[in-house]
Amino acid sequence: MVIRQLGAICAITLLLSGCIQTQNARNIEMFKKGNSQCYNRTTMPHTFVVDAHNHFRPFGGKALPINELNSYFERLEILFVNVFGIGQMVPLECDYFYNCPSALVKPSIKNDFSNAANYYEHAPQGTRLTLSMSFPDLNAPQDIAYKMELLEQEYPNTFTWMGEVNLVKQALFINRHRATAIENIAQWDEFMAKLRSPRGPSSTPIPISIHADIGSNKEPEKYLYLMEEVLRQYPDNPIVWVHMGLSRELTNLDPKRHTEILSRLLDKYPKLMLDISWRVLYDEYFKHDAIRDHYVAFLNQYSTRILPGSDFVATDTKRFKHYAKEVELTSYINQFLDDDAFRNIALGQNYFDLMNLDFEAPEICKG
Ligand SMILES: [Zn+2]
Repeated sequence: MVIRQLGAICAITLLLSGCIQTQNARNIEMFKKGNSQCYNRTTMPHTFVVDAHNHFRPFGGKALPINELNSYFERLEILFVNVFGIGQMVPLECDYFYNCPSALVKPSIKNDFSNAANYYEHAPQGTRLTLSMSFPDLNAPQDIAYKMELLEQEYPNTFTWMGEVNLVKQALFINRHRATAIENIAQWDEFMAKLRSPRGPSSTPIPISIHADIGSNKEPEKYLYLMEEVLRQYPDNPIVWVHMGLSRELTNLDPKRHTEILSRLLDKYPKLMLDISWRVLYDEYFKHDAIRDHYVAFLNQYSTRILPGSDFVATDTKRFKHYAKEVELTSYINQFLDDDAFRNIALGQNYFDLMNLDFEAPEICKG
C-alpha cells in the first residue's frame, strides 16, 4: 500500500523522476507473493513477463550463448522463461531446416542435455528459467519414459516442462516428418502418467506443449482429429496447444470457426491451455483490426487458459533486435486485453498457477 501510494506520488511529482523510473521497472521482486505494488498499464510495458515458448537450441548449427539470451531477457524485463530445445534437429551441417529441404529432421535429446549444462553453468540473476524436455518423438513413444528417467538421473528435479513436441507439423513434411499415427497416441500412456505424477519434491504435474496444426488452407480441419484424440485419451494431463493450432500453412481459417473449435475443447477439457506464441498469429490474424477484436473477446473470455510466448529460435545469427521484434509482435494483442486477461496472460498469473510457483501477478492499478 505504501508502495502504491508512493507510485501515485511519483507519478504526479515530476521532480521525482528517478522515483518514476524505479516504479516503472519490472523485476522479479514485484511478482513475489504479497507484494503490494500495482502494475500501471499506462506507464509500464504491455509486453509479456513470461515467455512460455522459447527455443534455446537451433535446428542445427550454433546456438546463441545462454548468457547472451539472459541479457536480452534482462533488457526487456522478461522474468520467467521456458527453455525449450527444438523438436526438429537437422544434420550437423545445416543451420535451418528450410535450407536443407531434403534432410531428415528428428528430435534429439542432445538439446536437453545442452540446455541443462548451460543452465547450471550460467544461471541468470533476474530471470527464472524453466527447463523443458524437447526430445520426445510422439510417433515413436516407446523410449520416452526411459529417456525422462535418464534426464532425471543426470539432472534431478531440473526438467519441469515437456515440449515443444510435434503431433503434426506440416512445415516439416518436406523433411520427412509425418503426422503422428493415431494408433501411436494410445502408447503414450506410460510417459503421460509420469508427467502427471513426477518424482522429486514437486508434486505439480508437468505440462506438455504440443504443436498440432489444425489443418491447411486447402483442408482447414484436416488434422484436428489428432489433437482431439490426445485430449480424449489424456484429459488429466495439463496440455498446452501451441499457436492455438495455427501455422503458416493455415492462414485463412475463419476466426469465428476457429474460436468455436477452441471454445468447445476448452470447455470440455479443463486442463487444456493454449499458447499465443509465434509471430504468424500477428502476421495472419491479430494485426487486422476486425479479426483482432474477435480474438481479444475470445482471450478475455478464456483468459485463465492462455499462455504467452515468443517462439524465438536462438540461432547464433540472431541478435537482441531479433528477439525484441518477436516479443513486440507476439505481445501486440496484450495491449487490447481487459485488466483481468492482461494480468492472467501477460503478467503470468496463469503460468504461476499451472506451475504452482511461489509468485503472483501484481494487481492492475486502478484509475
Ligand atoms: Zn516453437
